[in-house]
Amino acid sequence: MIEKCLLAASEISSEEVLNQTTVKNVVKQIGSLRVNRLVITDSSGVSIYDSADNSQVGKYMMLPEIIQSLGGYDVFSWNYHDGAMQSRAATPIMSYDTLIGCVYMMEYDTEQGALIKSLQNNTFYISLILEILVTIFAVFFSNSFTRRLRKIMVSMRIIREGDYSHKVKMGGNDELTVLGNEFNDLVERLQISEQKRRNFVSDASHELKTPLASIKLLSDSILQNDMDSETVKEFVGDIGNEADRLNRMTQKLLSLTRIESQEDSDCEIVNIAPTVDRVVRMLTGIAGENQISIHTNIQQDCPILIIEDDLYQIIFNLVENGIKYNVPGGSLTVTVDRIDENAIVSVKDTGVGIPPDSVTHVFERFYRVDKARSRKSGGSGLGLSIVRNMIERNGGSITVESTVGEGSTFTLSFPVFDTEDGE
Ligand code: ADP
Repeated sequence: MIEKCLLAASEISSEEVLNQTTVKNVVKQIGSLRVNRLVITDSSGVSIYDSADNSQVGKYMMLPEIIQSLGGYDVFSWNYHDGAMQSRAATPIMSYDTLIGCVYMMEYDTEQGALIKSLQNNTFYISLILEILVTIFAVFFSNSFTRRLRKIMVSMRIIREGDYSHKVKMGGNDELTVLGNEFNDLVERLQISEQKRRNFVSDASHELKTPLASIKLLSDSILQNDMDSETVKEFVGDIGNEADRLNRMTQKLLSLTRIESQEDSDCEIVNIAPTVDRVVRMLTGIAGENQISIHTNIQQDCPILIIEDDLYQIIFNLVENGIKYNVPGGSLTVTVDRIDENAIVSVKDTGVGIPPDSVTHVFERFYRVDKARSRKSGGSGLGLSIVRNMIERNGGSITVESTVGEGSTFTLSFPVFDTEDGE
């Protein structure tokens, strides 16, 4: 439409005088422009020609397009109204670079209007359908989400009431399934630790019951029987021994709990050799009493990162066992070696040995191969369990090889901790 305006403006600009007659002539010459309204104004915006309303001629035409075009611009605008598209264009009429007026055209297009109307309707229906679909999906998903979340909450309640065997079955393959699996893992761990706790309590009470029962029996015997002072002394001595055993057992239980709760973990770089020497010096007396000879073969430079008290306790327990479960005239050898990047400590005895079916159990709490022998030598079945816990918390490992009647070898391995300057 702007081209039509430009065409009219160029035709009119060739006129020397711009008045109603000259303009009408030019319009006649141009012929049909096929617009609904054609207005021509002078430079001040006064209408000289109006194809739609002759009564407006001679009046100011304050239409926005005309005002803009009198500023020297070509203007085009359109809007959709009442089922029709209305387009408007205006362009200045220039004569020798002087603005002498403007051409304004307006056109209704009902065909395009109908097209826009149908587009509008289609857009409306499509967005309505989309909104309905989104709402249906949202309701569906939120229902399924809530249902699955409720499943987890119900499972939590069941587990809180103590049924650790319960598992939540989520199905699907989304975050809630992952949450469900994590939840099941957690419950499994909880179940294991609860089982361990129960076993521990029942084992501990069983073990504590025996010395307590002996104490009760001995004290009842003293009270009920008329005994000579020698026998009373002997019985009281036995009561003292049982009390000592109880004491040792509770000490060990406390130390086990301390290790498991990971307290006191001040690791330092410790050379193994001096600690082994200290243990051997400490136990040489008892070994001598039991006619056991202790030998050592120690590589001096074997620093490891460990809690020093733990290292002492580990070696002490192993050497003590090597003496306890040995035979008169037997021997015990402690070796410290460095193989690749590992420090290897082995405690080898020529004692009674451990039967093959017991070897895997000796590190369990309260496990004793020969209860009578262990009790006689003051054992509680806790020593090796303490040893293994201490080794593991210090990053090491322990293995045992044993042959009944020939002896046992406990082998420990720790990563060597070398410092650059050897300090
Ligand atoms: P305890 O206090 O009974 O010695 P431990 O945990 O130290 O408990 O040992 C567990 C069991 O393993 C012992 O009761 C004993 O039967 C067996 N055992 C441990 N060390 C040796 C060894 N060097 N030779 C033979 N048997 C051993």
